[in-house]
Amino acid sequence: LGTHPQKDVNVIGLLTTQLPRAGETILGHKFFIGFGGKGANQCVQSARLGAKTSLICKVSTDLLLDYTFVGQTTDAATGTASIIVNSEGQNVIVIVPGANLLLNFEDLKRASDVICKARVVVCQLEITPAVSLEALKMARASGVKTLFNAAPALADLDPQFYTHSDIFCCNETEAEILTGIPVGNLEDAEKVGCMLLERGCKLVIVTLGAEGCMMISVEEPIPKHVPAGKVRAVDTTGAGDSFVGALAFYLAYYPKLPMEEMIRKSNCIASVSVQASGTQSSYPYRKDLPQDLF
Ligand code: ADP
Repeated sequence: LGTHPQKDVNVIGLLTTQLPRAGETILGHKFFIGFGGKGANQCVQSARLGAKTSLICKVSTDLLLDYTFVGQTTDAATGTASIIVNSEGQNVIVIVPGANLLLNFEDLKRASDVICKARVVVCQLEITPAVSLEALKMARASGVKTLFNAAPALADLDPQFYTHSDIFCCNETEAEILTGIPVGNLEDAEKVGCMLLERGCKLVIVTLGAEGCMMISVEEPIPKHVPAGKVRAVDTTGAGDSFVGALAFYLAYYPKLPMEEMIRKSNCIASVSVQASGTQSSYPYRKDLPQDLF
């Protein structure tokens, strides 16, 4: 996985004291650019741990790429996120999905070799949900493990996403949108975990920021809290993607590890990512991590 450092940019950030109002022009004090998107972030984290990864996506021909991708299009710009953050850390974000929404069933067919021969297929909701679901179905039909990250949240999620996910992973906000239950403490997390499990997946993980995760599975239907280590968080943006990328790595390369252990290790890796600023730029490499994680 790699991108051209000058040209491949789809995240634009601006730091300001206050957020601008409509029609207002203000001065910002910092500008940054980067590369992102949930799928790309998760792939990058997996790859930095040593996994062989493929990203199935669609981008505009405006990008120079050297990673595996399905399609390029001239009909829409590459998906972008433009973020303005004020001095209190509040932000406004405009996402233009662009080419992401043009990834289609035909593209998946072209990528069927990658999907059906993988050890793990990870899907999110930054492409058309029906296409994401189809990828899960293709993986399942070939006996490939499926990890579904229900992000960004979708209130009317097709119930087939549950039945086609070996592992269903969401954060507190997404869990609330899916179940209607606000997650304010571990008890709430247990409740939403049980509720999501009943919808047909084999295992549910609700990530809880500094609290780590709540897991519940068909095999062990009593919710289990897997705490994260105490760290000094600098920037938690993209922590969820670091977690999912790490979990995919363990599922693919250490499939015999107990799930709780995989989650504990993935918590460790995500908690490293929150100690540096940025998203992909904060994701750790295998060589810089304690070797007992491998
Ligand atoms: P998202 O980025 O989707 O909101 P979370 O905030 O739930 O996801 O974080 C995902 C994972 O990152 C957590 O389960 C945990 O492992 C780790 N993490 C996040 N915030 C912290 C923190 N402040 N301290 C330690 N680990 C954290």
